[in-house]
Amino acid sequence: MRLSTFVHDGRRQVGVVGGNTVTALDLTPTEELAGVLSLAERVHAGAPLPATRGAPIVLAEVALEAPLPRPRRNLFCVGRNYHAHAKELRESVFRNSTADAQSWPIVFTKVPETVVGPGATVRMPVHVSRQIDYEAELAIVVGRGGRDIPRERALEHVFGYTIVNDVTARDVQMRHQQWDLGKSFDGFCPMGPWIVTADELDGGNTRVRCWVNDELRQDAHTRDLIFDIATLIQTCSRGITLLPGDVIATGTAAGVGMGFTPPKWLQHGDVVRIEVDGIGTLSNPFVEEAR
Ligand code: MG
Repeated sequence: MRLSTFVHDGRRQVGVVGGNTVTALDLTPTEELAGVLSLAERVHAGAPLPATRGAPIVLAEVALEAPLPRPRRNLFCVGRNYHAHAKELRESVFRNSTADAQSWPIVFTKVPETVVGPGATVRMPVHVSRQIDYEAELAIVVGRGGRDIPRERALEHVFGYTIVNDVTARDVQMRHQQWDLGKSFDGFCPMGPWIVTADELDGGNTRVRCWVNDELRQDAHTRDLIFDIATLIQTCSRGITLLPGDVIATGTAAGVGMGFTPPKWLQHGDVVRIEVDGIGTLSNPFVEEAR
């Protein structure tokens, strides 16, 4: 199933996307406000998904929001998780690093307020950073929560998958030992267009591509992840209880703006489009923030 959060008739709703329509699910008003997070919570509680309500609505008549419009807490994000990307970073900002030899994944977080929906304009605060970059990523959405989840059972905890753009201010990221500040500017996590449930997609076997203004910049396959999806869930749940609706962004591939010589930072008016096979397309325009 493709599960979306959308606004129609001035009201946030949650629905099942099929073809070019979406059919609302029969949720309480409180659940609707939480978006698809409410469905992850139902899965966690062992409750069935709700029935549909009303007639299908043509997608062109709704405004899609991020499937998780406001995650309940910070998003877990994995750094440097494709071999080719680790190499391009080693040749730019991590010259003294032994990144390829790392035995544990790099994990940082983005604050929930970074999340915006498909099509939303991302405002670049150029008074803070002139090195704003894109990162196309497959993101895991947790269904059933848990702590100390063993690797061999990890995929049972996946509710589904979506796309995120882990937008990054590189100069701010590199200025601090921890990456969170440079990753957490307002609007710096476009997410969507919906969540595809885990029964319909093998997240470890799909293609991730990213274009900037129709120029293909990233083209990778999740088979090439250094740390696979099960390992990431196992790692993030060590001593930490994962909750339904938690997001783990699996890391980006080679081809980020920073990897070019000279770097290709995002410019006013650029459009970043990400496609993940089996999910869909996430596209967002970027503009300089008016001061
Ligand atoms: Mg990233």
